[in-house]
Amino acid sequence: MTRPRWSERLAVAQDRRVRSDTLRQRRVVERTEGARVLVDGRSLLHFCSNDYLGLAGSLDAVSALQEAAALHGVGSGASALVSGHHALHARFEREAAEWMGFERALFFPSGYQANLAVLQGLLEPGDLCVQDKLNHACLIDGARLSRAALKRYPHRDYSGALRQLQSMPGAAALLATDSVFSMDGDIAPLRELALVAIGEHALLLVDEAHSIGVMGPEGRGACAAAALSPRDVPVLVAPLGKAFGGQGALVFGAVALIEHLLQSARPYVFSTAAAPALAAAMSANLDALRTQTWRRAKLAALVARFRRGALRYGLPVLESTTPIQPLLLGSNARALAVANALEQRGYWVAPIRPPTVPEGKARLRITLTAAHAEADVDGLLAALAACLNDAGTAT
Ligand SMILES: *Cc1c(COP(=O)(O)O)cnc(C)c1O
Repeated sequence: MTRPRWSERLAVAQDRRVRSDTLRQRRVVERTEGARVLVDGRSLLHFCSNDYLGLAGSLDAVSALQEAAALHGVGSGASALVSGHHALHARFEREAAEWMGFERALFFPSGYQANLAVLQGLLEPGDLCVQDKLNHACLIDGARLSRAALKRYPHRDYSGALRQLQSMPGAAALLATDSVFSMDGDIAPLRELALVAIGEHALLLVDEAHSIGVMGPEGRGACAAAALSPRDVPVLVAPLGKAFGGQGALVFGAVALIEHLLQSARPYVFSTAAAPALAAAMSANLDALRTQTWRRAKLAALVARFRRGALRYGLPVLESTTPIQPLLLGSNARALAVANALEQRGYWVAPIRPPTVPEGKARLRITLTAAHAEADVDGLLAALAACLNDAGTAT
């Protein structure tokens, strides 16, 4: 037996990516101003940002960040349990919990880390974790880290979820779903899943990455929009990299649950706390997102405008009422070609390919934000129609 060589493994993997059109490139963003972005030296209209409410550039948040950094520096200096938990973190957690109507909130440096922490912190080997097939990668990875049995059900199929829960009736169980699915833009059957979880004594976790700030009264998310309370959804995860326009995540729950997590979740315990200034900036954006309802109204109007236009042009958009409007193209090559053609016309839309989506389901993931103008959306629609026409005759 000879030991495999790393150089060969890396070369083979790279070659495979090139041949299957799945090689990804990092584009260099130099500046963002509203919906315009300077990328690799060109000014483009940005249709692949998750900054749904246009709060990433919020001047109030910028001032809060600057003032907090001037007073407290840029680093927290330690993990939260050692000495990194700052008054600004504590304030943000209190404000957020009050806003959402939960007893407690726990602030994490990222959503990925928060989901790893919640699943690893709660689940043990021998437990059961039931998840939607299209859940975000970090929910899947969190279940793997916990070494609980992971069983998935067909997308949005709550009776499938029930069957999976019933397959291990003696195991402690957690049911996890995205509220809005990140690559499809559709919404989980949250009320039905809540009933299933309650009937099966399973803990329901909902990841509101794409709905927090965007849906529900005061932007409280899809669960709130479905009139579900913390009793129905005892664990709610809200990443802050999307509508919050920043970075980090909040995990909401009852006192006992949050206390358990902060003692036992390794991704929380063994990682440096986020910068206090980040908490201050997110606090400012929480305020904006609660009170500036015009942002949600404008976004909803733009989504409706895009849907109407897509219908008129006969574009192959998926069924979605959220700011995520995917255009299904099928092959990787086709998704790449259309994305490149759009860029030539001044529009930046990311082609999404496997493994992020299933084989043969490559797409353009168009996202609308409150920073767009009606004319931007109209321009995109016309460009899409023209590019698809060209691609249709070429491939
Ligand atoms: C973006 C996202 C995450 C990860 O959050 P980050 O803060 O980017 O690490 C988790 N879940 C879902 C559904 C997401 O879309």
